[in-house]
Amino acid sequence: MEFRFIGTGGAFDFEYGNSAAWIQFRGKNILLDCGHAAYRRLREIGIAGKIDYMLITHFHDDHIGSLSTAILHQKHLRKPPEKVQILIPPGPVGAQFQDQLYAFLAHSLIQPEKYLDFVPLDTLDGIHAIDTSGKHVKDMLSFGFAFEDEQENVLFSGDLGDPGLIFRYAESLPQNKKIRIFHEVSFWRTDGVHSFYKDLEKYVNKWEFYGYHCNPTYAPEDSIIPLVANHPEFLFL
Ligand SMILES: [Zn+2]
Repeated sequence: MEFRFIGTGGAFDFEYGNSAAWIQFRGKNILLDCGHAAYRRLREIGIAGKIDYMLITHFHDDHIGSLSTAILHQKHLRKPPEKVQILIPPGPVGAQFQDQLYAFLAHSLIQPEKYLDFVPLDTLDGIHAIDTSGKHVKDMLSFGFAFEDEQENVLFSGDLGDPGLIFRYAESLPQNKKIRIFHEVSFWRTDGVHSFYKDLEKYVNKWEFYGYHCNPTYAPEDSIIPLVANHPEFLFL
């Protein structure tokens, strides 16, 4: 699979765009999150009309701020127009997530079903949701995602204040395949909202992982976390 970032910043790191990924997986293009800076980047890169599926981690602006614009793009600028397919995690948390997403989009799209379908996550083989609800913001629904193909497992944390959760998930996977982890990182202590870089260091030698959702120029000198923003192979340059 090809896993690249269209932005690597957090909510306020506008120079780096909002953290969002473009994943080519089993012949499909998946847009993972679509924050307020994402639509512009999709246009600049030239992929705004090439989305097959969307995945959403949670409902902060830096993850869904330009979502309805990207959805409308598929109807008004894509040739031929296509309905957006939004992948929804299974179970009651996924159902609640879908209800919240529908209500949010209805403010802008009025009748979201005209523009999009909610489809079960298992429509595509090999994508698993990691329920991180309440572990970014109390009472907020949120997900990380795991992508598995024949070669490797790729884990994406989403915004997450529990720095051990994704690594415990990685531990539970069969270890005979490569595992790559993209994990959010903060250079400030945020009281359990984000993962402080010092709390992630103990995983650096055990796992191949890269930090995102930050401004790399703020990385303290003692930080040993490899950052997505410093790895051109994960970016659109
Ligand atoms: Zn965020």
